[in-house]
Amino acid sequence: GLGDPQRGRVIAHYGLNVAVLPEGERDHHAILRCAVRETLDSEPVCGDWVVWRASGAAQGVIEAVEARRTVLRRPGSHGKLLTMAANLDQLLITSAAPLFNPFLLDRYLVACSMAEIEPIICVNKIDLLDDEQSLQDLLELLAPYKAMKIPIILLSALEGLGVELLRNHLRHRCSAFVGPSGVGKSSLAAQWIHDEPIRVAETNPTTGKGRHTTTVARLYPLTDSQYDMGSIIDSPGVRAFGFHDARPEEIIDHFPDIVPWSRGCRFNDCRHLEEPDCAVRRAVEEGHLDPYRLESLHRIIDSLEEPE
Ligand code: GDP
Ligand code: ZN
Repeated sequence: GLGDPQRGRVIAHYGLNVAVLPEGERDHHAILRCAVRETLDSEPVCGDWVVWRASGAAQGVIEAVEARRTVLRRPGSHGKLLTMAANLDQLLITSAAPLFNPFLLDRYLVACSMAEIEPIICVNKIDLLDDEQSLQDLLELLAPYKAMKIPIILLSALEGLGVELLRNHLRHRCSAFVGPSGVGKSSLAAQWIHDEPIRVAETNPTTGKGRHTTTVARLYPLTDSQYDMGSIIDSPGVRAFGFHDARPEEIIDHFPDIVPWSRGCRFNDCRHLEEPDCAVRRAVEEGHLDPYRLESLHRIIDSLEEPE
């Protein structure tokens, strides 16, 4: 016999097992190993809320997957999109101060906007800015995002700067660090996450033998005694999240600072390049719009139009 239906959150899905944390529990001793009912229409992924019933000690069966508020996808083999994580509230777009690259940040912001997940801009390694001028230059590059009311946190994982402020943003929300490697995502996550990631042996489809190990996406509840401090979903796939399947003409919709100006262009299909009476270029010339933002829009469109 099975127990009564209860809610829980998927911590990880590996092989045939789904690790579920019952609702209200924060301690990893409470994690259940669950099987999945074959009748489910979607495979549970990390971050999913599910309905489960106990089938034995620390074991259960997942009977339903609740509707997802957000999903994070990546392209898999054969052009299929794989869902990596569900119900993320916010993405912590991480970069490192000395090499801060607004074009890369803009790509992540577009990806966030498409996935309808809130962005938070995290600039790590500010301890490496050794003079007042480099800090001023950074703040100048960040000004357009401040104007768009996107939260910006300056951090040093090394010196613990900004870490408390970031922690306040994590409360009651499900977050993931994204960004290129080497910027300090692991170092920042390590401020709160202490357990080892779950590694899964991948089986080689031809030989059937296990070879490589991959790290599956995993949800880490953050606790401060009994309080819900939010959670972090982490895996290499999640960190490298980007956009896919985007049409060049829809990119501008994800530049909320450029859209209003574009309504003033003479041509409806203005690309804001060489066209006469382009209101977007005029806004840049008159200092209302950051030139980097328009360049970002063009770079992203160019990258989508490049032949494969
Ligand atoms: P990830 O690839 O984004 O996860 O980056 P890591 O957390 O592995 O960090 C990459 C390197 O940057 C490591 O050598 C860290 O010690 C270093 N690092 C991380 N955070 C900081 C920081 O705030 N300041 C400085 N100076 N170095 C840092
Ligand atoms: Zn235009």
